Amino acid sequence: MPIISIVAYVASGANVSARAILAITLLATLAGTAFAFVVMRHLLLPVGEIARNLRSYRLEGRIPRLIKARDDDVGRLTDEVRALINALEDKMTRLKRQAFSDMLTGLGNRRWLAEAVSVEIARARREQRPLSVIVFDLDHFKRINDDFGHDVGDEVLLAVAETSKRVLRPYDLVARLGGEEFCAFLPATSLKEALPIAERLREGIASLQIDSLQGRRVTASFGVHEADVVREQFKDMLRTADQYLYQAKGAGRNQVQALEARRAVVQTGAANQAEP
Ligand code: GH3
Ligand code: MG
Ligand code: MG
Repeated sequence: MPIISIVAYVASGANVSARAILAITLLATLAGTAFAFVVMRHLLLPVGEIARNLRSYRLEGRIPRLIKARDDDVGRLTDEVRALINALEDKMTRLKRQAFSDMLTGLGNRRWLAEAVSVEIARARREQRPLSVIVFDLDHFKRINDDFGHDVGDEVLLAVAETSKRVLRPYDLVARLGGEEFCAFLPATSLKEALPIAERLREGIASLQIDSLQGRRVTASFGVHEADVVREQFKDMLRTADQYLYQAKGAGRNQVQALEARRAVVQTGAANQAEP
């Protein structure tokens, strides 16, 4: 900029003086620097925008809408950052799904259930509606593994999960707690309504026809509990339902047990049918 200004000054035919050249050089340098500064700022604006977006993504998890402003290096940087965030989000979604679901049956796992149930407990409290839990465990499942192999055992677990989804209502929460133990939470459902549902589950599992089992039947034992949504937390509800489940095991398996309001044990199902 100073050189262009001096050349223009000399070419204009005016009297060339050292003072004038000094003044022109100074002014032209100042103007050139200011111009360069404005241009640089303009070019770097999208970089600042990316930085602000990345910060709010890191701190608040807000996914940025990065729009490519120009077709230059800054534009390419915007594209790359956007692609990176999308890939990161995809991986996070996949990891979350894996962390919350059981890979064999596709049902939710205990972690998923605990989270989902906490929402249901809050709703049940707010709306003063009942909430029931059914815990069930396959009977003598070890024998199925021992007699037919682990793969057939897996097939049985999958069939039980499918039966649970079929029998339960879309808004019920069903999960595989671990091994051959499952759990269903039934929102807005009293014990009186939960018992026939558990019974349908029992029948559904007992009537499963699995070719690899060569006629062997699969059965399960059930514990049902209507939660006290004000006092009980998720783990208390599970513990109580588990007690009835173990009563059902002790009483001969392939049955549903629960405690009625008048503290009498309810028992449904055909005890001892389960013995293979
Ligand atoms: P009970 O009627 O008292 O419940 O007897 P059980 O044999 O079902 O119970 P036990 O706890 O003795 O055995 C559970 C078996 O479940 C042992 C374990 O190998 C099997 N198991 C746990 N997870 C899996 C799995 O993912 N796949 C298969 N095939 N078997 C599993
Ligand atoms: Mg078992
Ligand atoms: Mg078990």
